[in-house]
Amino acid sequence: MIATVEPLAAAKPKPIDQLRQTVSASRLNTWLSCRLKFYFRYVLGLTKPKTAALYVGTSVHGILKLWNNARWRRQPVTLDSLRQDFNTLWQDDQVKEPVRWDEGEEPGEKATAWSLVDFYLRHTPIPANEMAEGVEVKVEADLAKHGLPRLIGILDLVRAGGRIVDFKTVGQTPNEEKAVHTNEVQLSGYAILYRDSTGKTESGRDLHQLVKTKTPKLIVTQQGPMTEQQQSRLFRQMESYVAGLDRQDFVPSPGMQCSMCSYFNECRRHS
Ligand code: SF4
Repeated sequence: MIATVEPLAAAKPKPIDQLRQTVSASRLNTWLSCRLKFYFRYVLGLTKPKTAALYVGTSVHGILKLWNNARWRRQPVTLDSLRQDFNTLWQDDQVKEPVRWDEGEEPGEKATAWSLVDFYLRHTPIPANEMAEGVEVKVEADLAKHGLPRLIGILDLVRAGGRIVDFKTVGQTPNEEKAVHTNEVQLSGYAILYRDSTGKTESGRDLHQLVKTKTPKLIVTQQGPMTEQQQSRLFRQMESYVAGLDRQDFVPSPGMQCSMCSYFNECRRHS
């Protein structure tokens, strides 16, 4: 069984040398999506209030973590007790990390977040009595023999038999092939981390995506173990990360992603 530890800290300014020593899937995804955004977030450490959508996702994730932890420790848990935990977390988390609410938006978003949790717990394919192999496990893989930085990350859930599960909250019903593609860096990274820490190959990698439609939906996308092609793609992406940091290559990548970018104003002023 894998040990449970505390989550990773929020982004802080880091010297480039330090950023080069380790990489996580989320840092690599930011790098691949826009290097200037990476620069603002990780090199300068500019923090921004969370958006409502991000906060809903964080809250749902927090309650599913409690649910998984309770099953892992064989502690009793009910929908009512989770609802109380949800109410507490909803207040407490935004004291630690401010949220950018639009006028009157919060009560509706809170109701949406709970409806997603409630729906998941009633429709999850995971049996209530199933033992987990690991919950919210912080792991590292030393990839020095490949000339790469240490890979770090947190596995949401590893089901009995080595099935890795990642929970997502999404705004639209996802297309399965696109979901697999857009989450490839994360799911390949998790496979590397699992293999390195257990010496075994994962039996599968599943996305449990909760869709924020009026009536929530749960889309479970199942994949087999990471392929050699997927590992090779991840390693090439990590090489690009290291080479780009060495060159301090922080060019902007204007595109569709800019509409969601919290650094838009900084980007327009940047030269
Ligand atoms: S606005 Fe677009 S180009 Fe600028 S930092 Fe953000 S993602 Fe990159």
